Amino acid sequence: MVLQRRSFLAFAGVSGLSGMACGCAGAVHQLPQIDSGHLSLAQSEVQAAGGAPSRHQVSDQEVKQALDAALDRIRPAATQLCHEMRVGVCVWQFHLSGDRSLNANAGPGGVITVNRGIVEYAQNEEEVAVVIAHEMGHQMANHVATGVRNQQVGALAGTILLGALGAVAGYYARDTTGTIAGQAAKAGGQLGGAVGRISFSKEQEREADYLAAVILYRSGMDLDKARGFMVTIARASTRKETGMLDSHPAGPERLAGWDKAVAEIRASNGRLPQRA
Ligand SMILES: [Zn+2]
Repeated sequence: MVLQRRSFLAFAGVSGLSGMACGCAGAVHQLPQIDSGHLSLAQSEVQAAGGAPSRHQVSDQEVKQALDAALDRIRPAATQLCHEMRVGVCVWQFHLSGDRSLNANAGPGGVITVNRGIVEYAQNEEEVAVVIAHEMGHQMANHVATGVRNQQVGALAGTILLGALGAVAGYYARDTTGTIAGQAAKAGGQLGGAVGRISFSKEQEREADYLAAVILYRSGMDLDKARGFMVTIARASTRKETGMLDSHPAGPERLAGWDKAVAEIRASNGRLPQRA
């Protein structure tokens, strides 16, 4: 399947560069450590959850509505958190990609691209929101700027990806005032620049999940419902059916990290952790 090849190539390129160019920690905050006990619990849970997750049929209209609704719920808290951190980009431009793989991306210029596949696999609004919030987390922690160092490899992967991007059916751009504008023609190149171009370190991925949990917590959303998406990703990753592997650590490790983050956030009532 095409996605597997994509993942593999992206992975091969990224590991080559990161070993050479940086230590690639790059997280702004100190993050809770995952212990082996929790990891094996997460592994058992994912195994017990069964094989590949199922997607459901949604219309284009439903996809847009789902993303808009989730975004409306989390935007105020996310913007506030971003200004509190004073690290990264707090003005975001959202694109919906027609790509049906389970993936989303953060790119230069505050661009956040969410694949249609996210909505197809999500069970509820919280699960959609956690994906958007994760990408906001990359932006607000300025991971994108640090990730640009890896862009040379990204550009290489990009030429491979362009064929797949031809499959983008339709997407829209939405500025922070909530105006929706069709940008299919001019966003094409931009989208090509955003998807799969930036590679984040494992620490940065964990931080984006942590910030996503803070955003949802402060938005009054149900973190246990959002957690379902971490299980879905883990299930998909064991079957190698997800484009998420391109750019995100998947599997039980991510689920365990999520649980640790949520426990800490609940205990602190939504405060940010210490700076690294
Ligand atoms: Zn990420």
